[in-house]
Amino acid sequence: MPTGRRSVVTGGAGFIGSHLVEALLDRGDTVTVIDDLSTGDRANLASVWNHPSFEFVEGSILDRPFLRSVMTGTDRVFHLAAAVGVHVIIDEPLQSLRTNIHGTENVVDLAHELGLTMLLVSTSEVYGKNTADRLSEDADRVLGSPLLSRWTYAAAKGIDEAYAHAYWSAYGFPVTIVRLFNTVGPRQKGRYGMVLPRLVRQALAGEPMTVYGDGRQTRCFSYVGDVIPALIALSQTSAALGCAVNLGGAEEVSILDLALRIGSVLGSDSPVKLVDYAEAYAPGYEDMRRRVPDNTLAGDLVGYRPTTSIDTMILRVAEHITGRPLTPAGRV
Ligand code: UDP
Repeated sequence: MPTGRRSVVTGGAGFIGSHLVEALLDRGDTVTVIDDLSTGDRANLASVWNHPSFEFVEGSILDRPFLRSVMTGTDRVFHLAAAVGVHVIIDEPLQSLRTNIHGTENVVDLAHELGLTMLLVSTSEVYGKNTADRLSEDADRVLGSPLLSRWTYAAAKGIDEAYAHAYWSAYGFPVTIVRLFNTVGPRQKGRYGMVLPRLVRQALAGEPMTVYGDGRQTRCFSYVGDVIPALIALSQTSAALGCAVNLGGAEEVSILDLALRIGSVLGSDSPVKLVDYAEAYAPGYEDMRRRVPDNTLAGDLVGYRPTTSIDTMILRVAEHITGRPLTPAGRV
């Protein structure tokens, strides 16, 4: 049933954006995607390309007149367009900063001016090096030196949040901020960072799995199939307006253990290869040792309960890469 609601998704040709677009169309929205295809891909939208309620426009969120013309006459914007991936941030610091600061400023300004509601997709990176047991939304940011381009993504996203929040405080602008923690799933590319699809690809190819540092750093991977329904529910909950809300995974895993799990789930003999951070990224690179979400707020607001296991995430990503259904090795 059509909802009559017109949604704009910036960055809709990306991995997470394309899953969101599918879900919004399923729920009856009319959806316009804006994407500059810098890291996004038309192929991610293949399943919806001919949908009568779907429209794709190629262009940049830095182009304000263009953005205005696309957003005019719509009801809400999901803002996902950003320069993402550690390699993109380090290799192209200036363009990344422009997109992540000025691009978001454009989207927020226009959403306010044109009377849209907004969901700003942010990131657990805003917590930086805070290694708390469970990061609740009011946890401190602990960022490294501004001279390390590695921290510019976290800094820019923090500015984006502050900007959106300032509009909420000043004008009651209806915006909700969602902080994603290492979301993974089909269509995610390992090319720009993103460890899980990288290691899965290496394991499938029988190549060494490159684990950076000592591999004891941990992450809580969340599955795109768990995250998207919560994201949409949060965009429709007035109790979430003006809030920042974590959406993370339930299981903390070290990157070394992740590599071992990938090897065993896929039945791959690929060895683990430890690589220095300086060689993997850049001299002076600083990693986050740990990043564990407190998902209580999302649970309270929209019943978010991440249920997909890491083994299932690995299988789904591998199936997308190989293009065929897989079962866990040894359990066929
Ligand atoms: N990582 C790794 N091997 C790779 C790519 C990444 O060991 O081929 C590590 C990376 O250093 C980090 C973790 O995996 O500790 C997660 O990296 P990703 O880029 O996926 O996300 P983020 O660092 O933003 O959490």
